[in-house]
Amino acid sequence: MLKLAQRGPVQYLESEEFLTVPSILHGFCTRIGGVSGGPYATLNVSPREGDPPEKVRENWQRLASAFAIPRERFFVVSQVHGEEFLVIEDAVSCHSLENRQVDAIVTDQPGVAIGIKTADCAPVLLFDRTKHVIAAVHAGWRGTALGIAAKAVRVMGQRYSSRPEDLSAVIGPSIGPCCYEVDGPVFKALSERGGSDRVFRPGGREGRWMLDLPLANRIQLERAGMQPERIFTSGFCTCCRPDLFFSHRRDGAKTGRHLNFILLARGK
Ligand SMILES: [Zn+2]
Repeated sequence: MLKLAQRGPVQYLESEEFLTVPSILHGFCTRIGGVSGGPYATLNVSPREGDPPEKVRENWQRLASAFAIPRERFFVVSQVHGEEFLVIEDAVSCHSLENRQVDAIVTDQPGVAIGIKTADCAPVLLFDRTKHVIAAVHAGWRGTALGIAAKAVRVMGQRYSSRPEDLSAVIGPSIGPCCYEVDGPVFKALSERGGSDRVFRPGGREGRWMLDLPLANRIQLERAGMQPERIFTSGFCTCCRPDLFFSHRRDGAKTGRHLNFILLARGK
């Protein structure tokens, strides 16, 4: 479970697993603490859905102040529901890569807060306590069907010799099995990955299923070799909690995005 915390005006969720590690800073931000209005109220970090850019800029400034991380040290990408990774090898000049269309970021570089923007999709943050490597992954149903969380474990292994048993993962707030009704193509795409007997239950209508997206990602991480007790889920459904979260399913295309980030405060 994650617990609610507050820094300045910003409310966010944090994981006790990650809090025990002094060398990392992380947060799964809620929508509380920003300046945006209407459907983007209040802490929206994405200008793509119609929120005025000056509001989004002010929200980023608030995040920077709240977490005492300079704005230019936050790094986000253009997410496209794919399975491509970006490995940041240089924390200083990484901003030339910011428009890259990828859905996961990995780095061993201290001082760069790698972030994923979400409104229903699952943000997955990973940390290797031995090699001091972090990852941030965007896992909606498409990314999950592509196995992006399991791929994070493989990429960390290939690039940084991370061992799955040394990793911890926190699957942040996403739409829950209470609200995530999906149709045949989604059922088929995820069934092909296996484990579908556990992640689907029948929906209220013919040809519909309720998908447990956090569980699907947990199963992937376990199958990739991670220890089950090192994988944590949030216990929050973004669709059920309009007070805390944006939700694409609940509110449609005109809604905001939260920031989910992790930063390595110092190297090994
Ligand atoms: Zn729900």
